[in-house]
Amino acid sequence: MSAESTTAARPSLLRRIGTALVQWVDADYCPEGPVKMRQEPDKVDWVRVMPFVVLHAGCLGVIFVGWSWFAVGAAVFLYFARMFAVTGIYHRYFSHKTYSTSRIGQFLLAVWGGTTVQRGPLWWAYHHRHHHKHSDDEHDAHSPHVHGFWWSHIGWITSRRNFPTDYSQVKDLAKFPELVFLNRFDIIVPVLFATAIFGVGVALEAFAPGLGTSGAQMLVWGFFFSTTALFHGTSCINSMAHLMGKRRFKTDDDSRNSFILSLICLGEGWHNNHHRYQSATRNGFYWWEIDLTYYGLKMLSWTGFIWGFKAVPKRVLEEGMRAEHENTVAAAAASEHVHARSSLKKVVPTAAALAVGAVNAAQAEAPKKPDGPAIHKDVTELVAENDADKTTAASNRPEA
Ligand SMILES: [Zn+2]
Ligand SMILES: [Zn+2]
Repeated sequence: MSAESTTAARPSLLRRIGTALVQWVDADYCPEGPVKMRQEPDKVDWVRVMPFVVLHAGCLGVIFVGWSWFAVGAAVFLYFARMFAVTGIYHRYFSHKTYSTSRIGQFLLAVWGGTTVQRGPLWWAYHHRHHHKHSDDEHDAHSPHVHGFWWSHIGWITSRRNFPTDYSQVKDLAKFPELVFLNRFDIIVPVLFATAIFGVGVALEAFAPGLGTSGAQMLVWGFFFSTTALFHGTSCINSMAHLMGKRRFKTDDDSRNSFILSLICLGEGWHNNHHRYQSATRNGFYWWEIDLTYYGLKMLSWTGFIWGFKAVPKRVLEEGMRAEHENTVAAAAASEHVHARSSLKKVVPTAAALAVGAVNAAQAEAPKKPDGPAIHKDVTELVAENDADKTTAASNRPEA
């Protein structure tokens, strides 16, 4: 199709504005069809993203409402409570199915996820699965290496082509009408959530004036500030976690492990681990890798609300330890080069020899079967792989 005919087929400005306004409420409304829309070049849809702009602009309301310890505390609390929803629910449940729950439990998780104002659970899961399939290649919607930092951080979510949910890629979720409803009308939960925060502020102003807060102040801090910070904290995983930190596993992408990002994003900073093996409930693979989302999920499992956690396979843990040894050897060799005249010269070869010995020993014990691809293609494959791991483990067990 020529550029001319593309222009001719383009709907009028008024019609596009009207469409975007309907899409504020009905995220699935798409007159030209979602397939065609996804094939468009990247372009910011300013009318469509106006609620997102308002979310940021709402933070300026602080000029008018001031602050109180209660409102600031609520903002911090709601940041972490909802970061848990992003990581523990939208990511580790809907995107990767790393644990199980009941159907009603799933619905409640989706509602909690909706309070994050990061669109619907199916939209989130579809885009995230797509990221794993195409991580850092030209089809990755938010790779900082392909599109640059700012596009990977915030630009991609404003692009018209990234609005529709491809339900064919989340069939396991799309079979639940209640989830499709929440995904389609993804504005409902955020509006109810913001209204509830405002209502709490109004009630506190009337019944606990000593707290010094109000409906408007709670709305600005608990909703606008907290949600904007939550968006940028989450986005750091798309942008920073593919730029900053260490690479333990040689995955097909540039994902990295970062302790700082793990604190900000409750364990999601162990992103290189996660790209190596995405179907585990935990992203911190070793005890020293703090993963607050996993600890929270563990506590939730004690209530019986969720269950069926998926572990990191032993072979992946061993592979990680071998990689750590190799990094130690490489660092020792580099150190020898830098401090060639120092006393380290005598110590380093010994340390290197010990490390090499340990690497070889670990390899000797490692299973001989080849590993699967670092980037899994879909959840079904992950489940099958997990089952295969269990079968292999069972068949390897020595006869009593
Ligand atoms: Zn990634
Ligand atoms: Zn993931």
